[in-house]
Amino acid sequence: MFDLVIKNATLPDGRTGVDVAVQDERIAAVEPGITAEAGQTIDADGLLLSPPFVDPHFHMDATLSLGLPRMNVSGTLLEGIALWGELRPTLTTEALIDRALRYCDLAVSKGLLAVRSHVDVSDPRLVTVEAMLEVRDRVAPYLDLQLVAFPQDGYYRETGVEEALSRALDMGVEIVGGIPHFERTMEDGARSVEALCRIAADRGLMVDMHCDETDDPMSRHVETLAAQTVRFGLQGRVAGSHLTSMHSMDNYYVSKLLPLMAEAQMAAIPNPLINMMLQGRHDTYPKRRGLTRIPQMMEMGIPVGLGQDCVMDPWYSMGTGDLLDVAHMAVHATQLGSIEDKRAMFDAVTVNSARIMGLEGYGLDVGCHADMVLLQARDTAEAIRLRPNRLKVIRRGKVIAETPVERSRLSLQGRPEVLNPASYAPRIAV
Ligand SMILES: [Zn+2]
Repeated sequence: MFDLVIKNATLPDGRTGVDVAVQDERIAAVEPGITAEAGQTIDADGLLLSPPFVDPHFHMDATLSLGLPRMNVSGTLLEGIALWGELRPTLTTEALIDRALRYCDLAVSKGLLAVRSHVDVSDPRLVTVEAMLEVRDRVAPYLDLQLVAFPQDGYYRETGVEEALSRALDMGVEIVGGIPHFERTMEDGARSVEALCRIAADRGLMVDMHCDETDDPMSRHVETLAAQTVRFGLQGRVAGSHLTSMHSMDNYYVSKLLPLMAEAQMAAIPNPLINMMLQGRHDTYPKRRGLTRIPQMMEMGIPVGLGQDCVMDPWYSMGTGDLLDVAHMAVHATQLGSIEDKRAMFDAVTVNSARIMGLEGYGLDVGCHADMVLLQARDTAEAIRLRPNRLKVIRRGKVIAETPVERSRLSLQGRPEVLNPASYAPRIAV
């Protein structure tokens, strides 16, 4: 007898008619026609059953602060950083925890059960760190939260940040962050990459840097990060977030850079929603869109995980906590429109990011944690097109969030009375 059996699901890899059985919080069987008794049975009715969504790049300390103390008028990254600087001295642990917990509620309702959040360590009070460590503990039963020590205003711009970052790591933040393109000079940026990689090597930690989130085609911190990764033996433990300078770089130079990234086993974490909004602000027309080179990276075998970055904060006034919004934007902005491409973008908001974050027991294989999301869509391409309701969100074999099936009632003569948006899935031979 199993604790839970989900009957007749379609899996992200395209398998259909699959039953998934859960025992003791782990997946115990994945096969058609499971007949054993179960404490609870869910009929998936042929819909898509996925492992949970994963957001590998977020700012949980800033989320839901939109409008505090004012709105970002220019809409630029730099005004966002300045605005956050105004808000920061007024932050309290209590308010930070409250907003983060509210955001996590939203995330869970969207089937988003793992988040890597950068935490600003620029204010030596470290209230942000204190608050996010508390949040990490409180959400642990339902959401895996990883924390990155992130010097938002630069590692070398202000005195005291080096010490604060180190203290944040001592307090239990588990990943080393950075922002080399925001240091005063290219040289300071390069020095910061070296220093931060050394810290990660000494402490045995992963690295995830905001790296070249700029439209400057001459910015060279991605190559520095790749080189220092190799130098310190950090292969497979380093991610570069944003990497938007690569959009504007010369093609010849990129043909050198991509192999360097692959050699360093560096992962890439593009954030399509926010970078479509922030980049190209100094252009007239043609206007660069500033998203990094996702298709070329995938061709090189560089792991790509897509992040949200921000939801309703000084940098981005939109956002829903739904990683399918992120994949939807990526499909458009990168013109990855084939069925295979869409499946790859679905992987970029699920398995790829889980791998980048090093999540244990993630996936739909026997032995994995029984964490799953049942979507009102037939397959991965339809999931990205529809961004449909999450009918069931399951954590360790228990349903922790439910949303009813979306249906519209029509009053049209001679037409159906009820419409289910998921019923429009095309029957295409792949
Ligand atoms: Zn960020």
